[in-house]
Amino acid sequence: MAASFRAITRSSDAKAASSCVWRAFSSPSTLNSETALPAFSLFARRNYLPLRQDPKDRNVQWVFLGCPGVGKGTYASRLSDLLGVPHIATGDLVREELNSSGLLSSQLKETVNQGKLVSDETIISLLSKRLEAREAKGESGFILDGFPRTIRQAEILEGVTNIDLAINLKLQEEALIAKCLGRRICSECGDNYNIARIDIKGENGKPGIYMAPLPPPPKCASKLIQRSDDTEEVVKERLRIYYEMSQPVEEFYRSRGKLLEFNLPGGIPESWPKLLQALNLEDYDYKQSAAA
Ligand code: ADP
Repeated sequence: MAASFRAITRSSDAKAASSCVWRAFSSPSTLNSETALPAFSLFARRNYLPLRQDPKDRNVQWVFLGCPGVGKGTYASRLSDLLGVPHIATGDLVREELNSSGLLSSQLKETVNQGKLVSDETIISLLSKRLEAREAKGESGFILDGFPRTIRQAEILEGVTNIDLAINLKLQEEALIAKCLGRRICSECGDNYNIARIDIKGENGKPGIYMAPLPPPPKCASKLIQRSDDTEEVVKERLRIYYEMSQPVEEFYRSRGKLLEFNLPGGIPESWPKLLQALNLEDYDYKQSAAA
């Protein structure tokens, strides 16, 4: 049975999330694929994206918003396993291209290492290629992480398919910076870990937050690398760009009744069950392992 059947919809609580999803299902789109950039409208016409498919006949189409370091990748990847849909992170697509010997590589490296956004055209082209691959893999639905990041990207996406829900993860800036600086990646398997121990005391009515480090297992411990854009200077620039270019995307989805705001209460053990609750989902495997 597909993994999605392990995730069942809870009936009573989290009305906000479910009504968001419901409104998203029934909301009309304002653009059509002809207004989108050529690459996107081309794959849309070829049906790489399920154009205006009834949500009941397809898997979820969600996007993750949130500042650098907030944990979009962590939670998008967990939900993707739970729901059986691909997790597509545009940051990963950019890093793959940047590490290749392609023409774009050195140009992308410079942009990313300055903390700037790559052009909408480049991102759409990388995303188009990834979405085309879905057909061959027999994938349906998606959880996008790191896209859309500009209003234009959001409009283009809206032009080709319906997004059911935008999940906006939130965490205070001090924790975001510490998380980016503490992030480590296994150069072999690509898994993410974190050496930072975040313990911010609450003050002036603001809640404190504790996040335990996420140490690597022994097999990864000697292979850890840091992202070249995870330096303090570049993280601060990425945050500045987020507030300027990407935060308006939150309003884009809020005004369409599709935004689910989620303040992370702590690390994965505290946040994952609460996020599932907000999304009306259950993860039996996690419950069983937590109870063991
Ligand atoms: P972050 O931790 O900042 O959320 P990501 O891994 O999502 O980082 O992205 C890394 C970099 O890739 C970004 O700083 C940006 O240069 C580029 N990038 C990723 N997604 C997009 C996008 N949708 N639009 C433009 N640039 C993007």
